[in-house]
Amino acid sequence: SARLDPADLLAVGDLLTDEERLIRDTVRQFADERIRPHVGDWFERGVFPARELAPELGKLGVLGMHLDGYGCTGSSAVAYGVACMELEAADSGLRSFVSVQGSLAMRSIHAFGSEEQKQRWLPDMAAGRAIGCFGLTEPDFGSDPANMRTRARRKGADWVLSGTKMWITNGSISDVAVVWAQTEEGVRGFLVPSGTPGFSANDVHGKLSLRASVTSELVFDEVVLPADAVLPGVTGLRGPLSSLGEARYGILWGTVGAARDCYTTALDYAKSRIQFERPIAGFQLTQQKLVEMMLEVEKAYLVAVRIGRLKDAGQCRPAHISFGKLNNVRAAIEIARSARTILGANGITTEYPVLRHANNLESVLTYEGTSEIHTLVLGEAITGESAYR
Ligand code: FAD
Repeated sequence: SARLDPADLLAVGDLLTDEERLIRDTVRQFADERIRPHVGDWFERGVFPARELAPELGKLGVLGMHLDGYGCTGSSAVAYGVACMELEAADSGLRSFVSVQGSLAMRSIHAFGSEEQKQRWLPDMAAGRAIGCFGLTEPDFGSDPANMRTRARRKGADWVLSGTKMWITNGSISDVAVVWAQTEEGVRGFLVPSGTPGFSANDVHGKLSLRASVTSELVFDEVVLPADAVLPGVTGLRGPLSSLGEARYGILWGTVGAARDCYTTALDYAKSRIQFERPIAGFQLTQQKLVEMMLEVEKAYLVAVRIGRLKDAGQCRPAHISFGKLNNVRAAIEIARSARTILGANGITTEYPVLRHANNLESVLTYEGTSEIHTLVLGEAITGESAYR
């Protein structure tokens, strides 16, 4: 019989199709060759070389890969998921770049944009020639975006946009910002190209998490936009929330990659690190940690495959996404912290990925709906009682 694979003991990977496995292996190879050797240094310096990487990610086919047409790959949900898994195995910042570009910015234009807006932006964004961001969160409104203060008012045929967005991934490096604002008709989305007078972006400094990722404040000071800057296809919070659902789906896969990377790093380290004249992998306490990690990685992977198959069958509901995001991010953080202990002092440096993953996952726990909010989504799904306010 075939040898057991310690990195995938239950052979969850066998549930993937040949095509999905091919995408997994291709993205893994890209991440291992192009990202892994440098990402510790990027994290330490607090940089992400987006301009250089975007065309390479475009060529790899992962920018808007689950969208149809306009230069996008049109992959299945599971194929998109496995790509996110392999990207985040390298770093959550890399996966965040791809999620924001594809699932938040491109997906909003694809779902709600005019034909002209789609032609203008999507082929360039799919190829990585143009970078997008998605501005929903504000300094005073995160979990509760319905009360946002950013406003757009009509002035003749134009719009005038004012307000501040905060914590915006890719903010200062974007060619186009998808910005959600309150209007007299309800929440609408606007496409704001960089360089538009009155629009500026300032980077957030001092992050201890997701350091290999650009996070910015966006300021709109009476920004005049033409009538065709508005996304015509949606009014109301349903617009941004539906795109967030797509990005969260990528996260529930991505975190399996980060968790697997921590577990396999700890496993390799434990087999070669000698203390008290034997590999630390031979101590029962170490084995218990490794086994717990392995169980949780495999369960999270199974959850991801299940939700991916539901999504491809058109049966995925928001509560399913909340299930995956809550469970898999939480599992990944626990695994990362436990892996760090196995690496001892080496575990605290950027030479190994474990504390970088653990720190990154703190952001992943908070963005795209905090764990508390996903708990409330699930609480309402099973009890019928809403507990938000
Ligand atoms: P708050 O909403 O103030 O929450 C603080 C705490 O209160 C949390 O623990 C929360 O769970 C809890 N809480 C709030 N309401 C309730 C309730 N009803 N019941 C119980 N507990 C509650 N946003 C974007 O729009 N675009 C981006 O690209 C983007 N990128 C990000 C990148 C990073 C690195 C980070 C850290 C954030 C990013 N965000 C982005 C913002 C992110 O979506 C918000 O941080 C998130 O929605 C939480 O909002 P908040 O930080 O304001 O926390």
